Amino acid sequence: MTLDTPTVAFVTVLVVCLQGGILTALWLIHRDMRGIGFWAVGALVVALGVLGAFLRSDSLPSAALAAANIAIVTGLTITWWGVDAFFGRRPGYGLGLAILAITATGVVYFIVTENSRARIIFLLGIFVLMAGLRLYSLLREVTPGTRFSQFLTSMALGAQAIYYLVLATTVFSLPPVEKPLAQVPFFGWLFLIPMLLSIVVVFGIVLLVNQTIATRLKESARRDALTEALTRRAMEEMAEHELARSRRHDLPLSLLLLDIDHFKLVNDQYGHAAGDAALRQFASAVRGCLRREDVFGRLGGEEFCALLPSTAVGGAAQLAERIRQSVANLAVEAGGNRLSLKVSIGVASLGDHAGSWDELVNQADRAMYAAKRAGRNRVIVGNAEPASAEQPG
Ligand code: GH3
Ligand code: MG
Ligand code: MG
Repeated sequence: MTLDTPTVAFVTVLVVCLQGGILTALWLIHRDMRGIGFWAVGALVVALGVLGAFLRSDSLPSAALAAANIAIVTGLTITWWGVDAFFGRRPGYGLGLAILAITATGVVYFIVTENSRARIIFLLGIFVLMAGLRLYSLLREVTPGTRFSQFLTSMALGAQAIYYLVLATTVFSLPPVEKPLAQVPFFGWLFLIPMLLSIVVVFGIVLLVNQTIATRLKESARRDALTEALTRRAMEEMAEHELARSRRHDLPLSLLLLDIDHFKLVNDQYGHAAGDAALRQFASAVRGCLRREDVFGRLGGEEFCALLPSTAVGGAAQLAERIRQSVANLAVEAGGNRLSLKVSIGVASLGDHAGSWDELVNQADRAMYAAKRAGRNRVIVGNAEPASAEQPG
């Protein structure tokens, strides 16, 4: 089947304009998300370039052709910057501008020397490079929540890169054709393929934004709004996972239970808002003492916990002591007042006497209350059960 080239060209222009429109709408809806603005602007600049390339007739000056070619590469570069911006990285502005400078030089040179075959091969090479760069930025960090859209978009970009590469090689190996490419019979097909792939790319981007929002919502539901510590429910889920992992690999696991001393007095003396501010600063001080893999949660009120994977009771007690000291040294700013906090910490570790989350919490809780009874502002290790001393095997 032969596709009528002008029809495909017309549809391509319509499709790229539509893509620009869709991405602009996405940008207006999600103004707070970085990167989408780049994609909208990038798609519109590509649309302008494609439009320019098709509007051009031989009567138009070559400058219009050069501008159209450069516009397409500019749009692709902005789109690439958008991918890095979306993932919170600094876009490669320097490399992008260098690619644009090289593109402009090449395009102008091949237009002046009237070598349209070389210009096409050169441009296709740049398209391959731009698809490759976007692919790289898209796959640098694959997260479980957005994996599907990242792979879908990457597959379409990869297919585009392969397509341009094959096309460039074909144009390179075929003898030069005298008539313009647009009059080659199968030219319509040549435009249909990247157009369809670019629809998949835009669909992938919309899906990526969607999956990112869904992931953020799920994540924020797992966190306490005041302190950003995990909620009790999320903490229990994490604990289940960590307990299973520790048992499977025979690794130690410890839990700290932290309760701020006489916190009611803070509220009574300085007001509830000051109490909230104190809780936030307390949580951030504790987090500052933890490792990346430790799990920090708020069990309720002024009671927090930290689950420490691969940490035996000795290490956990040391960490608890470090936390106790940094909390004691913290100058809490609350409602124009400077106040200090003290914390009592109970330590429990996985062993024959504490095999489940509830048992671990109970053990740490008993230790924490023992710390309260012993005068507060201290660390007590949960009844070091005999089982942990006599290691089996
Ligand atoms: P103890 O040393 O025995 O732990 O004494 P405490 O005063 O810390 O313990 P108590 O359980 O009597 O009081 C806890 C206080 O924590 C009471 C409650 O008003 C306060 N609180 C709990 N959640 C919040 C919160 O989200 N914001 C504020 N500002 N206060 C809270
Ligand atoms: Mg308390
Ligand atoms: Mg309490």
